[in-house]
Amino acid sequence: MTIAPRIAREVELEARNTLRIPGRAEYFLEAKSVAELIEAVRWAEAKGLAVTVLGGGSNVVVPHDGVRGLVIAPKERGIHFVEGSGREVFLDARAGEPWEALVEAAVSRGLAGIECLTGIPGLAGAAPIQNIGAYGKELDEQLVYVEAFERATGEVVRIEREACEFGYRESRFKRRPGEFIIVGMRLRLERDGAPTVRYRELVDAVPPGASLSEVRSTVYALRKAKSMILDPEDPNHRNAGSFFTNPVLSREEYARFLERAIGGGLIASEEELPHYPSGDGVKIAAAFLIERAGFRRGARMGAFGLSSKHSLCLVHHGGGDSRGLLALARTIQAGVEAAFGVKLVAEPRLLGPDLAAAVR
Ligand SMILES: Cc1cc2nc3c(=O)[nH]c(=O)nc-3n(C[C@H](O)[C@H](O)[C@H](O)COP(=O)(O)OP(=O)(O)OC[C@H]3O[C@@H](n4cnc5c(N)ncnc54)[C@H](O)[C@@H]3O)c2cc1C
Repeated sequence: MTIAPRIAREVELEARNTLRIPGRAEYFLEAKSVAELIEAVRWAEAKGLAVTVLGGGSNVVVPHDGVRGLVIAPKERGIHFVEGSGREVFLDARAGEPWEALVEAAVSRGLAGIECLTGIPGLAGAAPIQNIGAYGKELDEQLVYVEAFERATGEVVRIEREACEFGYRESRFKRRPGEFIIVGMRLRLERDGAPTVRYRELVDAVPPGASLSEVRSTVYALRKAKSMILDPEDPNHRNAGSFFTNPVLSREEYARFLERAIGGGLIASEEELPHYPSGDGVKIAAAFLIERAGFRRGARMGAFGLSSKHSLCLVHHGGGDSRGLLALARTIQAGVEAAFGVKLVAEPRLLGPDLAAAVR
């Protein structure tokens, strides 16, 4: 049977993004298998339509005027474990599996590696896109390879970790969207391995020798206190997580930044500023810059505002669309740039093929 009859027209995406903002897909399909996904891509190509991939919608901004072309949601599920050598165990997952199901499957089997990545919404297939990270762990530490449908060749290929060009909230998939559709991945875990407890807040919160599941539940509780868990009871729940990435400055840029911030009376000394080494540079906390630039937690601008728990997180209070959200994001960017000379970069992507309009 051909896929065409299953492709729906003018599908509202409001319930399919965690900000709950409205916008329609011109064509939409949930692909239950890789074969269906490939057939749908070929259908779109034959019609000259753009193809956009939607996972759990937790890191996208749906444009108010909709997404042209075909939006495909990869929904193939499945988790399998494969024995490696020694204490190594591989977790193979299909792209449509909820990310949290991977964490649950690993921790419940005593397999270490992804316990700190609990509570991150979305599907496994999107996890490599921005190299998800939290509480001292990034996905690329555990990822062995990604399996992806390559648009240019029409083949399903294996992309080893080194070729994924991972960075802080970065990958080749995010830099050059549209080249690949991720359909699966392999993670490396460790049987009876120690949990990763290296992030200051986590070190302070767990007792020495804590088990994998204790570390996971502590991370979950810390996230919940910041409204970083999707909980419909939470007034901040309509969000896309952190809206801006933490700026990473070169050593020279950082020295200039400090001089300006201290000289301008925005901070008293370097000790006040949350900052961490990052590669050859310094990562500074975007939330701190936002608050010092004068944006308060809980502040509102129309239908949107800053979360009352976390100034990096922008919240939809209802009745708004992408225009209001982007206006707030640009106001914050401009305020931080005027105060500190640093341009904040938005983490979520504008959904759709129109890259020129991407959130910058
Ligand atoms: C409350 C909350 C907390 C969060 N906390 C964190 C956190 O701690 N750390 C973190 O890193 N992120 C965090 N996020 C962001 C988000 O959850 C992750 O980036 C997640 O991996 C996105 O998954 P998704 O399935 O929702 O992707 P979507 O939002 O649907 O898509 C994101 C991008 O990936 C592309 N994409 C999706 N699936 C595929 C695929 N199979 N192949 C190719 N491209 C694809 C989309 O086109 C889009 O550009 C948080 C979000 C929320 C709402």
